[in-house]
Amino acid sequence: MNKPSKEDVVIQAKGLQVTFDKHQGLIKDLFSNSQTKVTAVDGIDLTIRNGEIVSLVGESGSGKTTFGKALLHLVIPSAGEITFEDQIITQKEMRKFRQRAQMIFQDPYQSLNPKHMIIDIVAEPLLVHGLLSSEEEKLKKVTEALESAGLKPGEQYLYRYPHELSGGQRQRVVIAAALVLHPHFIVADEPVSMLDVSVRADILNLMVKLRDEKDISYLFITHDLSLAWLISDRIAIMYLGKIMEIGPAELIAGECLHPYTKALVSVMPAPKKRTDRKRMVLTGETPDPSRIPAGCRFHPRCPMAVDRCRTEAPVLREVNPDHLVSCHLV
Ligand code: SF4
Repeated sequence: MNKPSKEDVVIQAKGLQVTFDKHQGLIKDLFSNSQTKVTAVDGIDLTIRNGEIVSLVGESGSGKTTFGKALLHLVIPSAGEITFEDQIITQKEMRKFRQRAQMIFQDPYQSLNPKHMIIDIVAEPLLVHGLLSSEEEKLKKVTEALESAGLKPGEQYLYRYPHELSGGQRQRVVIAAALVLHPHFIVADEPVSMLDVSVRADILNLMVKLRDEKDISYLFITHDLSLAWLISDRIAIMYLGKIMEIGPAELIAGECLHPYTKALVSVMPAPKKRTDRKRMVLTGETPDPSRIPAGCRFHPRCPMAVDRCRTEAPVLREVNPDHLVSCHLV
C-alpha cells in the first residue's frame, strides 16, 4: 500500500468502535437486568489524507453516519483512537478540534433554525468559539463565508430567513456555517440527498472547489455509489459496522472484488460502469446491527458463501496497492 507520510494524513481512526444499549421498550427495559448491545461501528481503521475526498458507502443501518459522528466526537467511541493533524484527540484538544473539523448534515430544512436570520446562523460557530470581537468583524466573516459557499453577493442573504431560500441555497448556508471556522476536514453526511436532482451537481461541484481552493478534506457519507464515484478519490464500502472493501474510486466502480461491492456496482447507473457485469440483486434480510451473523457478517446474503464463511470472519487485507478487501475468496 502507498503508505501516506505523517504530513499527508489529516485524520486517522484506529480500531474505532461505537456500541449502544438497544432499548427494548419501556417495560422490558425496566424489568430486564440485561441490555442488548448494538455494535454500530466495529473496529474501523481509516486514514484520510490531505485534500482527499473519501466516500463511505453503505445501506441504512450499516453504521456509516455513526462512524462519521464518532470521528468528530459527536458520539463517544467505546474503543479506538482518533488522530487529527498528527495529534491524538483528547478532551484537552477538543476545542481546537471542533474548530478545524466540521459536519454537514443531510437535511438543510432541519439544520437551520427557522427563527434566525442567516447572519446569526452563520455567525453562531464564531460566537460559540469566542472568535468575534465586533459587529463589523461578524459582517465581514459571515459575508465571506456565504460567498465562499456560492451565495453571492453575500450581503443579499444576511438578513433573510431560511424559509425565503430554496433547498440548494439553504444547503449552501449550512456549508457557509461550516466554512466560517476555516475547517481542514468536513464530514458531509448525505449532503445532497434531500435536494432536487437539478441542484445536486452544483453542491457537489462546490465541495470539490472548496477542497481545491481551501485545502479541505472530506469524508462523504452516502448510500449512493454513483455519487461516491463522481466525487471521491477513494471509496470505502461499509456493511454492518465494518469496512468490506476500500480502494481508489475508479477501481471500486470497475474492478471491485468483494461480492457486496459487486452487487452495489451491478445496479449502479454510472456511465463508466462495466457493461459486462450482470445485475446482482441481494436477497435476505436487510442488515440489523443488533443481530450480527457469526463468521463473515455478509454470509446470509452472499451468493458466493462457502462453509468457512459461516464460522470464520475474514480480515480486511491488502490485495493490491491501496486496495483492501475483507473476503475469504479474494
Ligand atoms: Fe461472501 Fe464468504 Fe466472501 Fe463473506 S467471506 S463476502 S460470505 S465469500
